[in-house]
Amino acid sequence: MLATKGYAAHNATSELVPFNFERRDVGPNDVLVEIHYCGVCHSDIHNARNEWGNAIYPMVPGHEIVGRVKEVGRNVSRFRLRDLVGVGVMVDSCGKCENCRRGLEHCCVNHTVLTYNTPELDGKTITYGGYSNQIVVTEKFVHHVSDKLPASGVAPLLCAGITTYSPLRRWKVGKGHKVGVMGLGGLGHMAVKFASSFGAEVTMLSRSASKENDAKKLGAENFVLTTDEKQILKMRNYFDFIVDTVSAAHDHDKVIDMLNVYGVLINVGLPPAITINPHKLTWGDRVATGSMIGGLKETQEMLDYCAEKGISSDVEVIPMNKINEAFDRTMKGDVKYRFVIDMATLR
Ligand code: NAP
Ligand code: ZN
Ligand code: ZN
Repeated sequence: MLATKGYAAHNATSELVPFNFERRDVGPNDVLVEIHYCGVCHSDIHNARNEWGNAIYPMVPGHEIVGRVKEVGRNVSRFRLRDLVGVGVMVDSCGKCENCRRGLEHCCVNHTVLTYNTPELDGKTITYGGYSNQIVVTEKFVHHVSDKLPASGVAPLLCAGITTYSPLRRWKVGKGHKVGVMGLGGLGHMAVKFASSFGAEVTMLSRSASKENDAKKLGAENFVLTTDEKQILKMRNYFDFIVDTVSAAHDHDKVIDMLNVYGVLINVGLPPAITINPHKLTWGDRVATGSMIGGLKETQEMLDYCAEKGISSDVEVIPMNKINEAFDRTMKGDVKYRFVIDMATLR
């Protein structure tokens, strides 16, 4: 077993604290990754605080991982020592079901093993995530990362990046589309970057007036302050798509009112519950849909697209021992636009 250092939550209310644990030895198909950076996703906060009701403690969060290959198993063919690699939200799946065979490992009908807080395929070993100095992952779930981009800014692509890239691609968002992005945080800032890079006209929908300049620098043409009813009313029936990334309960009917006929609400935010008045959807044949991360193939495609276009996340790099402060600041929306932990501060 491999002695590993990390930070863990031990219950829903206490702070994350240093935690030593063991990872499995490197098997024939495994890659051992020395973690250099790990992004702080709002899902880490939902999970650590048991907001979804399925927390398993102790919990080592973190699923936006970038590092270098430290060891490879004897059957590993796609990676060599010192390669720069990424690991995202999942680390295994059955590999046999129709969805796995279609490259939709995140929708495995048997069991997708998430990077933390989930039993492995053996049904017993609980996964520990990227707030740690190393991780052992089966080769198939490891991605190649280009060294053209800053590694710290690549880490958030592994969750915030793929979660926004995937639905924008699926709905073929591009030139001629009006896209609203609701909430300027980790996912929101990537949605703005991708939608504008795909050629759409992007409007930032934010409750924070102070984020207007940044939204425009990120690629938004317009900014709407969602706390100002007048500004919201002006956008009635305006958008073809709205990507809603908000992490807390809010009025989805007001969001849908901003969609045009046939407009699509792509909900990626995961507050514990949302409610929608059905009349808001029947008028104009609007669509409300969701999206969860993306499959392995599409994640690699997104990483390659980012390397080609020079797209990475805007990050604030923090030492590991500032994680609790980072959680609190993320809750207040005080992050530009993703905290990323420098794991050298843990070694
Ligand atoms: P984040 O960085 O905290 O950003 C969320 C943003 O939502 C905030 O910056 C804020 O933007 C807005 N917001 C927060 N609380 C609000 C409130 N009470 N009312 C209105 N607006 C509020 O979070 P994130 O990491 O981007 O994650 C966003 C959500 O997506 C989380 O629920 C997370 O669990 C979920 N998620 C889903 C997937 C998936 O696969 N679907 C993947 C990753 C994360 P403004 O200040 O601009 O309004
Ligand atoms: Zn995430
Ligand atoms: Zn499967």
